[in-house]
Amino acid sequence: MKLILSRVQRFSTADGPGIRTTVFFAGCNLTCKWCHNPETQSFQPQVLRFSTGKEECSGTETTVQEVFALVKKDADFYTESGGGVTLSGGEPLLQPNAATELLKLCKEAGYHTLVDTAGAVSFSTFEKVLPYTDLFYYDIKAATEKAYLRYTGGSYRLVSENLIKLRAAGANVVIRIPMIEGVNTDARSRKKIADLCERAGIEEIDILPYHKMGVSKYDALGMPYEMKGKRRTPKALLSRNAEYYKARGFTVKLQK
Ligand code: SF4
Repeated sequence: MKLILSRVQRFSTADGPGIRTTVFFAGCNLTCKWCHNPETQSFQPQVLRFSTGKEECSGTETTVQEVFALVKKDADFYTESGGGVTLSGGEPLLQPNAATELLKLCKEAGYHTLVDTAGAVSFSTFEKVLPYTDLFYYDIKAATEKAYLRYTGGSYRLVSENLIKLRAAGANVVIRIPMIEGVNTDARSRKKIADLCERAGIEEIDILPYHKMGVSKYDALGMPYEMKGKRRTPKALLSRNAEYYKARGFTVKLQK
């Protein structure tokens, strides 16, 4: 089965428990202004030309079988470390058949499976992958319809409704919040997000500080980076948010 791939990252320790292989699917239906992987937004082939002379490609056509052959190579590491396979992107759920088939192969091989999603897809897609997914990383990027549309092009309503349905269907979900000052770090936003998480029965929230790691990719793609003047999320603001979510009863992990 066809799969439009951005890249595969082996030996990843940042995309879930243990040592993992992360499969970055190409294509996304959001346009988050802080996106660290802008090359994954398009389904079309992209060439990143860095000022150092290095070139990278994204958006190549491959097959699920080919990707699984690569994933299989590190099976011993998954077993030893409690790791597995992560589907990320882009939005992996925009290629639901390929995602389902890959997850199914991984489950049959006994690997832990994780889907990293922004949640802005129809719920029927979640229903397809749910039987083969051990854990979802689920982004909440803003707390109002207006802010979601403005900063990501997506819908808060869709993302929040899908979260409630996903949990009701029995999925294990960790919430991931990219902490963007002026977007979702204020008292009203965090209360609204905590209320939603409480309603969905979420236990863990991961806080991801805003940084500029992906900026060189915008230059390499010839894309404008609209958040050029934005500073890193101040530590005090990160702590304030972390303390709030903790006080609301969530397990909070502050990511690097
Ligand atoms: S959902 Fe992820 S991949 Fe898509 S634009 Fe937002 S940050 Fe980038």
